[in-house]
Amino acid sequence: MITQPLILHIAIATPLRRLFDYLPATTSESDNLMPGIRVAIPFGHRDLIGIVVSTSNKSCRPQDKLKKIHHVIDAQPIFDDNHMDLLKWASHYYHHAIGEVLFAALPAPFRKNNAITEFDEKIWCLTENGLALDLNLLKKTPKQAQILSFLQQRQSGIDESALTTLYPRAKPSLAALENKGLIAKSAKHDPNDFIKINMSPFELNNEQKSATTAVLKSMDRASVFLLDGLTGSGKTEVYMALMESVIRAGKQCLILLPEIGLTPQQLQRFKDRFEVSIAIQHSGLSDSERTQYWLNAKSGKAKIIIGTRSAVWTPLANPGLYIIDEEHDLSYKQQDGFRYSAKDMLIMRATRDKVPAILGSATPSLETLYNVKKGRFKHLLLCRRTATAKPPQYRLLDIRGRKMYGPLSQPLVDEITQHLNNKNQVLLFLNRRGYAVHLFCHCCGWKAECNRCELPYTYHKHIDRLVCHHCGVTKPYLQNCPECDGSLMLMGHGTERIEEVLAALFPSAVIARIDRDTTRKKNAIHNYLAAIQSGKIDIMIGTQMLAKGHHFPNVTLTGIVDADRGLFSTDFRASERLAQLFMQISGRTGRGRKAGTVIVQTYNPGHPLFQQLIKYGYNHFCNSLLQERSDASLPPYSYMVFLRAEAHYANDAKNFIVKATMQLKKIANNALLLFGPIPALIEKRGGRYRYQLIIQSPDRKSLHKHIARWLDDIESLKDAKKVRWSIDVDPQDIT
Ligand code: ADP
Ligand code: ZN
Ligand code: ZN
Repeated sequence: MITQPLILHIAIATPLRRLFDYLPATTSESDNLMPGIRVAIPFGHRDLIGIVVSTSNKSCRPQDKLKKIHHVIDAQPIFDDNHMDLLKWASHYYHHAIGEVLFAALPAPFRKNNAITEFDEKIWCLTENGLALDLNLLKKTPKQAQILSFLQQRQSGIDESALTTLYPRAKPSLAALENKGLIAKSAKHDPNDFIKINMSPFELNNEQKSATTAVLKSMDRASVFLLDGLTGSGKTEVYMALMESVIRAGKQCLILLPEIGLTPQQLQRFKDRFEVSIAIQHSGLSDSERTQYWLNAKSGKAKIIIGTRSAVWTPLANPGLYIIDEEHDLSYKQQDGFRYSAKDMLIMRATRDKVPAILGSATPSLETLYNVKKGRFKHLLLCRRTATAKPPQYRLLDIRGRKMYGPLSQPLVDEITQHLNNKNQVLLFLNRRGYAVHLFCHCCGWKAECNRCELPYTYHKHIDRLVCHHCGVTKPYLQNCPECDGSLMLMGHGTERIEEVLAALFPSAVIARIDRDTTRKKNAIHNYLAAIQSGKIDIMIGTQMLAKGHHFPNVTLTGIVDADRGLFSTDFRASERLAQLFMQISGRTGRGRKAGTVIVQTYNPGHPLFQQLIKYGYNHFCNSLLQERSDASLPPYSYMVFLRAEAHYANDAKNFIVKATMQLKKIANNALLLFGPIPALIEKRGGRYRYQLIIQSPDRKSLHKHIARWLDDIESLKDAKKVRWSIDVDPQDIT
């Protein structure tokens, strides 16, 4: 009898939505080739890395055509079965190529030929000299003294990654201590000995207690909770109370945050409370740090895994709790390539692992509120701000006809003066970088527009250039009109302009502008935040960077400079987003002992959005938005998928959508609602015209079933070669 050889079905990092069949390099190798193993393979003329997804004895290609793999990279699977299943599910749900999904879930070195064993971790121990050393002898090198003191108190070895979590940039100090013979590398370590949980400085209030109890009761069940509480109502304390119990049970917590670089304080709170191995996952880390942390999560050593969107793919040996903070945040949806929602994936993981998921927000998304209404998520409410903080006072400021200083009205300027006189801090919010948004000719009406996007350039004064905020192109500033040589005018204000106006009005105030332009350098944001905390800054001007999760206890006045943007957008989510932003900004104010005021400059003081938000609050406002969505059969009352296409010629993009639509009509036979081709909100970007087809259905299953069939057809369309196309499941951003 001839035994069938083992066929390996392998994923590679390609947008092709299929697996590739290979044979093992040797027959003896077959035994160890299980799913999740990485292998080096020949592919065309290149050598690539592949991941074995499954094995069988069948291939749709003739056997003599199959190539052998070069070799196996790791003896162990990089993904265990559970994680592999999750990734396969995601590939299926988002209709995205399995190879790209798997590779996106790996740290960069593992997308290349680096073996897992290259990252076996160093463990640092004291030598006898190190144990006996008088710390005063290290006075001149305080960082070394700190580390040595830590090791002396601890009296056992510790992983390098744990040390660098506690003492960022510790590596040079470690090398120096090693040179002095005070510490040495060792191979031994006890994975559980690095667990010390510090006491919370205060008792949880009653609401926090009942929220905590509710979650604790369903610790080993799949259940989703919305932790709904104003900024400063103590959500993070609830997370930490729950994490404590999960870690004590020997399990791991995965926490997603919208930003980490911007919120070092929040990370620090977790570090202060939990002296455990913490794995950080965000793009600001070096590849080797990130990989080390990833492996610590996978092995179960790290008890806390904390990161931004892509951290949702971190494998866990022993999951106990999933948390997503600021769950409404748009950054949780990837907007290009593999367009997944980290929130939905987190919920999916919790459900599969049968542990709780907590969605925290002061401004929950409509989707989440809807799921609460449906009874799918449990609602935990924290109404009160903690003892020391008071809710802010809102003031809608009608600026029609008011004297203006650039973008700032007289009453706002007066108010700023008063708060500064009282030695308080002021925060002004404008979600637009640069100096001016339009440059146009006063004589003939010519406008400075990016010709790749057909949208106005923003003038950036500090570099004296025009910048396209959509594609990044820049060009020199113009003094005169290229058409008629007339004089040019600047219109529309950005953060640079506010800074200039304030500097003239308040020459003795210290002003900080905090936007993407001023925070490009590595520690810039950290330094700003420290300066704000210590009271060195009087007025800060910020974009939405400042809306996220910061504590500014001495800010007593927040000005929303241009509240009208977004009131009249055609994006059906615009009102929801505007309301969220509005509440988030206001939440920056009066978080300390002092009460805060929020001034909203508007030309539309009667707009129902403001009226409802201020009078009745966010939840009431959302109820009426949900009613509107329901009436219009929009998500969450229906499910959406976009087919997007972009091309250098508008007609190519349009034709492609038309043909693809015909295919789908044939398959779905009126089961789906189709709208298109319609131009994207930003119709042209980076030189490409953008069109889309909106596909909608109240029935998610039917929607996905039809899309899956349709994709094979689209791939075979001749017109598909002329465009860049993509599928976006549950789209969040319709621009
Ligand atoms: P959120 O995460 O909802 O913004 P935090 O958990 O950060 O709120 O709490 C806001 C502030 O209130 C923090 O400084 C925190 O230390 C403090 N705090 C939270 N809970 C309590 C409590 N039960 N008693 C006293 N202070 C508290
Ligand atoms: Zn002109
Ligand atoms: Zn452009």
